[in-house]
Amino acid sequence: MKVNVSGIPEEGLQQEADLPIIINNKTKPDIAHVFIKVFRFKKRVLIEGTAKISVALKCGRCLKEALLPFDIAFKEEYIPAEDIRGEIEQELSDRDLDLGFYSNDELDIKEIVKEQVLLSVPMKPLCRDDCRGLCLVCGKDLNEGACNCRKEEIDPRLAPLAKFKEILKDRKE
Ligand SMILES: [Zn+2]
Ligand SMILES: [Zn+2]
Repeated sequence: MKVNVSGIPEEGLQQEADLPIIINNKTKPDIAHVFIKVFRFKKRVLIEGTAKISVALKCGRCLKEALLPFDIAFKEEYIPAEDIRGEIEQELSDRDLDLGFYSNDELDIKEIVKEQVLLSVPMKPLCRDDCRGLCLVCGKDLNEGACNCRKEEIDPRLAPLAKFKEILKDRKE
């Protein structure tokens, strides 16, 4: 889905679409339902949009794949990449909008949405907020129940204390 900047009418344009987006080098794209409004002021373009997408991501704790829904809203200004120098030096400091760039009079809406989705995907996604993760000793998925090795595990923070007790015992004897 591409938009020619010079072809954007004065009153702006609106588009709604389902865009296939590939995230994290997956083989199958996820579909983003996108609604955008595009406005142009000479060469500057303002894009306001929302995107709904469900992405299958590996949980950072239990390592299982989970379908996580994202509801994204964004508002971003785009200027031609050719104008980049003057614009940035003059105005970037006191902006409240994010600034992006386009080139060849063309905005790639799919790329813009993909960028927004990537910004929303957490570094360590969780299948659910209270995911218990895997046992560090036996690797069992603790969401499915407790394992047996937990009780036998020595808390490393208590190890020096155990050693100290040993020493006391030796002295008494
Ligand atoms: Zn999980
Ligand atoms: Zn275990």
